[in-house]
Amino acid sequence: MTREEFIKKSLAMGIGLPFLTSIIAACEKEVIEFPEFSTSFSGKVLVIGAGASGLAAGYLLSRYNVDFEIIEASPVYGGRVKRASNFVDFPIDLGAEWIHATPAVLSEILNNPELDASIDFITYNPQTLKGYRDGRLQPHNYASNFYSEIKFKSTTWFGFFEQYIVPHFEDKIIYNQPVATIDYSGSKVAVTTIDDTVYEADKVIVTAPIKILQSDTISFVPALPAAKTEAINSISMGDGLKVFIEFKEKFYPDLMVLGGLIEGLANDNEIFYDAAFRKDSNRHVLGLFTINEPASKYTTLDSDQAIVDAVMEVLDDIFEGKASENYLQHVVQNWSKEPYIQGSYSYTFDNGQEETVNTLNEAVNNKLYFAGEALSLENQATVHGACESGYAAVGRAIGQ
Ligand SMILES: Cc1cc2nc3c(=O)[nH]c(=O)nc-3n(C[C@H](O)[C@H](O)[C@H](O)COP(=O)(O)OP(=O)(O)OC[C@H]3O[C@@H](n4cnc5c(N)ncnc54)[C@H](O)[C@@H]3O)c2cc1C
Repeated sequence: MTREEFIKKSLAMGIGLPFLTSIIAACEKEVIEFPEFSTSFSGKVLVIGAGASGLAAGYLLSRYNVDFEIIEASPVYGGRVKRASNFVDFPIDLGAEWIHATPAVLSEILNNPELDASIDFITYNPQTLKGYRDGRLQPHNYASNFYSEIKFKSTTWFGFFEQYIVPHFEDKIIYNQPVATIDYSGSKVAVTTIDDTVYEADKVIVTAPIKILQSDTISFVPALPAAKTEAINSISMGDGLKVFIEFKEKFYPDLMVLGGLIEGLANDNEIFYDAAFRKDSNRHVLGLFTINEPASKYTTLDSDQAIVDAVMEVLDDIFEGKASENYLQHVVQNWSKEPYIQGSYSYTFDNGQEETVNTLNEAVNNKLYFAGEALSLENQATVHGACESGYAAVGRAIGQ
């Protein structure tokens, strides 16, 4: 396995980069590239989607004083970056949570030396680690010596965008406008939403998740070139779920993986983790993070209550009823049921990642561009990768 493959596998496991690897990566070069270019573009740009990628695109477009709007299907910005503010006494990341790089990547995203951004981080290196296999909890605390990465201490990924990115162009985001058709047959691109509102622009950057592009949610006129459609359909994006349960006492380890620590991670099994680890709080919050097939048994259930009941059953089984004894409250985020997300994140690329991503990164008719986490070659499936892809798409659209 090459270092790059190792990094990708670590990310795919959902657990992120070991800290040492991140430091090595950071010493080699910056994690993401903030494009610098000159432009004489004087037209209008529409960005479809206000997730990390679309927001990053907006941040760069506003820096170049370009006329633009972001059209978002849902009533909020953030996409897979989402926050539960009032669940306990610290904000919870319902989607992206870890900074899968060094903290320096946040300055790379902002690229603003004048900004005095002071953000507190946690060194996230769980001390008690267990695998659960064959009806037994097996300790793996030795792993605390080599697994460590970074989390926000008192803010969240959503808070980061809220504080540093969105204020630059808040009035340019149009909410509750699911895009139904993108017609790029004329000299302008016409974007029509499900209530028949039409927006026109010279360039359009589409940041909708891969699952949305694979569905018939958005029709392209004319149809996208066959190579693009094939590339889109060759990327897998599985189910995704996060559940947070507050308990009276902490009866669980800092990190627990079903199916065994190492084997469970390799098979994308459910990861339970102390979500309050090193947060400024005395509350006891257990998080469940699960993607792909292991997530599907929960995400396909009828209701959030059914999901939490199923999770509680698993926990009661492992901890001999302590989950029910200590239960206080829960919050469920079923990403597969979010109508404009429909899953976790891009995972495998049937026809090779580089070829697929390069195909998708090519402009269509010099007017239509794609961006999003799946289209970052180096940082796929991360928030900073989504930003990187948004920046690159803006560079391609308006740069010279
Ligand atoms: C459970 C989970 C855990 C994760 N953990 C981490 C982590 O710890 N660290 C990390 O770095 N990354 C993590 N990720 C990945 C990270 O969240 C994503 O890579 C990133 O947020 C994706 O940003 P994006 O802009 O590409 O897509 P999105 O955030 O999905 O944004 C796309 C936007 O497009 C909108 N949209 C869709 N269809 C339409 C339409 N028809 N019209 C208009 N708008 C539309 C959507 O509503 C959405 O707002 C996690 C993801 C999940 C699901």
